[in-house]
Amino acid sequence: MTRVTMLTPYVPNGKRAVERIFGCNYGLYPMPNIFVLYTASELEAAGYEVKIMDVPIEKWSEEQYRDYLKNDKSAAYVVYSTLLAKEMDINAHAILREINPDVPVIYSGPAPTDDPDFFLVDDRTFVIRGEPELSCVDIINTLSGKSDRDMFDIQTAIPGISAKLNGKVENYPTGGVIENLDALNHPARHLVDASKYFSPKFGVSPVTVMLTSRGCTAKCIYCVPCSLSFARELEYKKTNENKPPVRMRSVENVIEEIEQIAKDGYKAVSIIDDQFLWGEERTRAIAEAFKKHNLAWGCLARADMVTEPIAKILSETNCKFVDIGVESFNPAILEYIKKGVSVEQTENAIKLLRKHNVFIKANILIGSSPLETKETIRHTIKRAIELDVDSIMVGATNPFPGTVFYTLAKENGWFVKGDYYPSDSQREWVMEYPHFTRDDMDEMLRWANRTFFFRPRFFLRQLHRLRNPVDFIKTVRTFFKKLGWIWK
Ligand code: SF4
Repeated sequence: MTRVTMLTPYVPNGKRAVERIFGCNYGLYPMPNIFVLYTASELEAAGYEVKIMDVPIEKWSEEQYRDYLKNDKSAAYVVYSTLLAKEMDINAHAILREINPDVPVIYSGPAPTDDPDFFLVDDRTFVIRGEPELSCVDIINTLSGKSDRDMFDIQTAIPGISAKLNGKVENYPTGGVIENLDALNHPARHLVDASKYFSPKFGVSPVTVMLTSRGCTAKCIYCVPCSLSFARELEYKKTNENKPPVRMRSVENVIEEIEQIAKDGYKAVSIIDDQFLWGEERTRAIAEAFKKHNLAWGCLARADMVTEPIAKILSETNCKFVDIGVESFNPAILEYIKKGVSVEQTENAIKLLRKHNVFIKANILIGSSPLETKETIRHTIKRAIELDVDSIMVGATNPFPGTVFYTLAKENGWFVKGDYYPSDSQREWVMEYPHFTRDDMDEMLRWANRTFFFRPRFFLRQLHRLRNPVDFIKTVRTFFKKLGWIWK
């Protein structure tokens, strides 16, 4: 059987592994890449032997990576790359090419979607723009002779791919989005060693990741909710004015996957939908399935989707956290960034979740508008403390290519190097305003983390949540990484 390997390439000595699910920073803790698992599953269903090789998880040296490539018999490699990982991935590609000049390599993810030319360094390399699952099978079928389509003929070209033909990059017509998500096979979790992944948000292991819907109806100007959504929107907006439509899996299809996850022995599930709370009925049905199978779970949600019945459902079904995109408690900033959620709605959601004892993580983006000042940031952090959220994630708002915020940053000359460059959004801002500089950003990121986390109340709550000593040690390491006190 033809072997295809889903490869997360080698990380050079002294560099940190990149987090590829959300795609905005270096990894704080290792989680399985659900987008890779989806593509792997489609390839398996098409009859291929699929391997997953996550080199950063193995912590291999360059020598070990070379040895692996020399001995490996894969007929093709599939790499999911993000903006922050692209330089590392293309350096690892050079090593692969030294050892195996002819093996096909297929890239997908936001970085290849944004800049196919960067990855198409030779004519045995291919890029899938946007959602990769189905086009990846088409490419492998064509390369392995299972399909007689001509990849380079516009009439039969595979949707959404880019390739190099006679030294010139060809971008074939877009593939759109996968409309029926129920038609996809469930992610191939059996291909990974669950014990190697961990999330400090649960206090139990093993943990996996799940996707029940794709997309969000809101139009925040900076939005890059996860790396697949970013890739999808970058591609979709090339031919459409609006965002791609929200697509949801049926409740039955989601419950079938939850049953399989429980059978596989997982104890917790992190749902990474851009926004998970699509109404009370759907939320209840899925949440009850988690409860029935004794699975802890958590999700991301928009504040305006939290109702009292939903908060109650979450508290009764072992939901361990809700990540809310708060961004700011300043009404003018929320208006500027087109959040579509008012300060009152956010506060109301937090109060409801607090009342029902659901762990709340407030995601706060600073510098998202020229209205931001040190004072608005101080107000936002103090308000998060007053409202008693359990945790926060504070990041600098970097204008990713393809977003409205990017256009604004370009037009107004806010980029410090004239354009976007990949950076870790928890540490580095690639722009500044005349009145609020990068030094101000550094100072306020440190201040926000110090002010929120160095409180006895925060420590006591964490101690209460984490009863398992191994998880406790891993969580402390994660926390130190988050604060920049340790590097790897
Ligand atoms: S609510 Fe979140 S996912 Fe939706 S557009 Fe805004 S930032 Fe993006």
